[in-house]
Amino acid sequence: MSSTAKKLDGRIAIVTASTDGIGFAVAKRLASDGAQVVVSSRKQKNVDAAVAKLKTEGLTVTGMVCHVGLKEDREKLIEDTVSKFGGLDILISNAAVNPVFGPVLSCPEDAWDKIFDINVKTAFLLAKSAVPHMEKRGRGSIIFISSIAGFQPFSALGAYSVSKTALLGLTKVLAQEVGHSGIRVNCIAPGVIQTKFSAMLVDNDDVRNKVLEGIPLQRIGQPDDMGGLASFLCSDDASFITGENIVAAGGAQSRL
Ligand code: NAP
Repeated sequence: MSSTAKKLDGRIAIVTASTDGIGFAVAKRLASDGAQVVVSSRKQKNVDAAVAKLKTEGLTVTGMVCHVGLKEDREKLIEDTVSKFGGLDILISNAAVNPVFGPVLSCPEDAWDKIFDINVKTAFLLAKSAVPHMEKRGRGSIIFISSIAGFQPFSALGAYSVSKTALLGLTKVLAQEVGHSGIRVNCIAPGVIQTKFSAMLVDNDDVRNKVLEGIPLQRIGQPDDMGGLASFLCSDDASFITGENIVAAGGAQSRL
């Protein structure tokens, strides 16, 4: 690598749900590290704003609307990316929902279905569509964004926690199936990160202080804390790492 080369030069990347929060930070970091990044989310105005913001930082990004729950949006995101840039090397599956709070047994069936549709099924379907393009290039990196709640369920987030545990399994299974094609599959399990998604945990002082008691680094994570890890996992620096579920949670307890 020359001194000016960047570690993701020549890589084409899709990041879902990337106009805000963790997805935005990951898209920004991949682009800073040289990848051609396609930013996406449900709303065109958010896509336009995110692309404009990243371009003002001198980054090479494009944007496309993609509601991950819509088949035509998912297919368009992947097909348009491949036809525009000539292939696909990186998929970061980041979108998730949590429409309910409370005990798992009080989770209505429609909420359960929505959680599993968006958090698990679309991750699987996006990977299924991406893999043939990665096979053509003989390389690829898929990252699922799970949660520490997938290891250590958050109270009142039962169904969401189960959906995030499912992603840990999807990572293991898929890594076994596509490794022979040079495609690596890993998973990031963030701890509490300051975004709109976690507002209920971090905006209330009492709840925030309770959360902080369980974080040895004594701070709430920032979206940018996830960018470097995602970029590392996509890069050749992680060339022998696949099937791993990596917790990035400031030391919050998750497993041995
Ligand atoms: P966030 O800040 O609320 O980000 C939301 C982003 O997702 C926006 O760009 C939004 O744009 C897009 N979006 C929402 N629904 C979408 C859909 N159906 N299809 C496509 N885009 C969609 O969320 P976040 O905290 O960054 O969470 C990102 C991921 O990290 C999720 O998988 C979450 O479970 C996980 N996570 C978060 C935390 C945390 O503490 N924040 C902890 C562990 C894991 P539009 O409105 O334009 O669609």
